[in-house]
Amino acid sequence: MANYIMPGRLDRIFNRYQDELEAKALEVLRSGRYVLGPEVEGFEQEFAAYTGSGYCVGLASGLDALWLAFRVLGIGSGDEVIVQANTYIASVMGITINGATPVFAEPDAFYNLDVSGLEDLVTEKTKAVLAVHLYGQASDMEGILRFCQKHHLRLVEDCAQSHGSRFQGRMTGTFGDIGCFSFYPSKNLGAYGDAGAIVTDDADIAESMRIYRNYGSEKRYYNKVVGANSRLDEIQAGLLRVRLRHLTELTEERRELADRYNRELRNERILLPQVRAGCDSVWHQYVVRCSGRDELIQYLDRQGIGTIIHYPVPPHLSEAYAYLGHKKGEFPIAEKYADTVLSIPIYNGMTADEQGYIIETLNSFR
Ligand SMILES: *Cc1c(COP(=O)(O)O)cnc(C)c1O
Repeated sequence: MANYIMPGRLDRIFNRYQDELEAKALEVLRSGRYVLGPEVEGFEQEFAAYTGSGYCVGLASGLDALWLAFRVLGIGSGDEVIVQANTYIASVMGITINGATPVFAEPDAFYNLDVSGLEDLVTEKTKAVLAVHLYGQASDMEGILRFCQKHHLRLVEDCAQSHGSRFQGRMTGTFGDIGCFSFYPSKNLGAYGDAGAIVTDDADIAESMRIYRNYGSEKRYYNKVVGANSRLDEIQAGLLRVRLRHLTELTEERRELADRYNRELRNERILLPQVRAGCDSVWHQYVVRCSGRDELIQYLDRQGIGTIIHYPVPPHLSEAYAYLGHKKGEFPIAEKYADTVLSIPIYNGMTADEQGYIIETLNSFR
């Protein structure tokens, strides 16, 4: 179909900033520096400043940011980490790569960690909470911080979907010991390949992270720990600097798109996303719920509108985690979300006509 509306359109952002992006890519190619150079340093400084963090360390992906965060905090075999049951599976892999055990918690009405269920999950093995700011909305950081302080737990934030999102005015990623970011191309701050980073206020954590990302060496060929190759490259860092310069306006555009959906979508069968008081969303996804979800997907597809389910299989029911021994029905809220959520198209560069058509089509679903 010629006018099929895809769930995402990364070419629209590229086209908007094409001159700046191409100039930066050429500049790096001609510089002779390709991995961990001045662009990486520049991006780290600028992203730390953007989030209001003391330090940023560029890495190769969001998953690396997560698993290296737990590694640097010394969390591994025999330890438990609390995480919401409705997250993207990479959050959970960040825990299990280290040999630690994920302890799943039910999500709240905003798709984030439900603080009211946390007390029941604590054991003497609990070492940390991983708060995932899912779909772009900040979690209830007041409740989560209080819980972590009470039980002396580490707090790691998965900000792969929440670049620039705030809780009571403060940016996600700055509440915990470590904030983990992905710059996968489809994220709100997206590179043109894989990239990631952590932010922290702790100089020692930042230093450890720099060592871990480069085979565990501070000085070349002298290795302190068994590290990883998780270096950020100069082209991605340079392109991220260009994108970061425009992130505020790009986020504002997403908010305007979401506001219009919130105002104009009206269908008794479709539940719209809610934003908690004191939180905001950068609308990484615009997620609706519908009991006839699969019917809705077919209907929208026939009308030329593409959608995605984030996510159809909750990690505890994934084949990859069969070894944890969870059963269907154990996390009814997370499972209900998996069966009913649907992300409708929201992307920078969406035209008013495209959005009008999506709204009209959704409102006519019977
Ligand atoms: C994308 C994503 C990740 C993983 O990031 P990659 O850069 O793809 O490794 C982790 N957690 C969440 C919530 C994500 O959306």
